[in-house]
Amino acid sequence: MTIWNTLQGHDVVLEQLKKAASRRRLSHAYLFLGPGGVGKKLFAQNLAQSLLCEKTSDEGLEACGICANCKRMQAGTHPDYYQVDCPEGKKSIPIELFVGDEEHRGRQGLCYELSLRPMSSDRKIAIINDAHLMQSEAANSLLKTLEEPPAKSLIILITDREEGLLPTIRSRCQTVHFRALPLEILQSLILSNEYVDSNEDAERLAKLSDGNLEVAFELSQGRLRELSEVIRNSFSKGNINPLKLVPQILEWIEGSGESSEQRRAAFWTVKFMAEQFLHQARHSSSNSAIIDEIQIRLRRLRDAEQQLHEMMPIPLWLEGLIYDLASGMREQPA
Ligand SMILES: [Zn+2]
Repeated sequence: MTIWNTLQGHDVVLEQLKKAASRRRLSHAYLFLGPGGVGKKLFAQNLAQSLLCEKTSDEGLEACGICANCKRMQAGTHPDYYQVDCPEGKKSIPIELFVGDEEHRGRQGLCYELSLRPMSSDRKIAIINDAHLMQSEAANSLLKTLEEPPAKSLIILITDREEGLLPTIRSRCQTVHFRALPLEILQSLILSNEYVDSNEDAERLAKLSDGNLEVAFELSQGRLRELSEVIRNSFSKGNINPLKLVPQILEWIEGSGESSEQRRAAFWTVKFMAEQFLHQARHSSSNSAIIDEIQIRLRRLRDAEQQLHEMMPIPLWLEGLIYDLASGMREQPA
């Protein structure tokens, strides 16, 4: 039995930390850095549980799963474990979560909790998820704690956007790099989590989701799946009807939420289209004229991605894209 069963693809990181633990060289602050949806948060929670477990020594980074501390961790009620997430519906992590609100300044929040003595184990552990979302005041109060870490404390910052953190915070943490999940691991996680039933569907999701299990989940559900079907259906027939397709996709994109969500949906549109062209390319390997045509369309999709980065208005963007793809496409002048 190991608590690391549910996590795959991060053996190197685990070994690295085990080595540090066995030499009693665990840092007091880590920065877990790497793409989203690969299990950084779960990894951090496992690490915390292994260090808080009263039945196992630190060296193996294992947890028994049955002692009082393990039970408290699993129930989310461990008094020496503290987790900060961006509040639901908010775009940033407020200072209150670190040092308390104005009425309780310095008497609540993560920095305060860490300054107290551990209650039911021999240390205190804090995880800050999406650390790049900390407001600058919040980051500065955390910085003070990082500069003078309380004895027997461990802070783990998690992010996929290193540039969103103060350099002074980064330099106080030991960075641990997480990688995107390899295709075959992602595929097996998709199946074991029952996002889809068949190997074939799991492979498709794995390829589309760039090593990100959260994205794979999103793709297996509701709206995104709908968009993928719409594009698959119209493109697989090789006969794109812009008059029908432009309003259909535009309605879908506009229904996905505020403007950043819409832009994200537009990126997915491009991705699903590219998937179709790549599929066509694989099945027409002998016909060079068709391959050339597909290459031109794929290039048009790369331009479309660039236009999205440049914040081109989506209705205009979509219409131009679909009409270009539908018209058989001639070489664009350079
Ligand atoms: Zn335990």
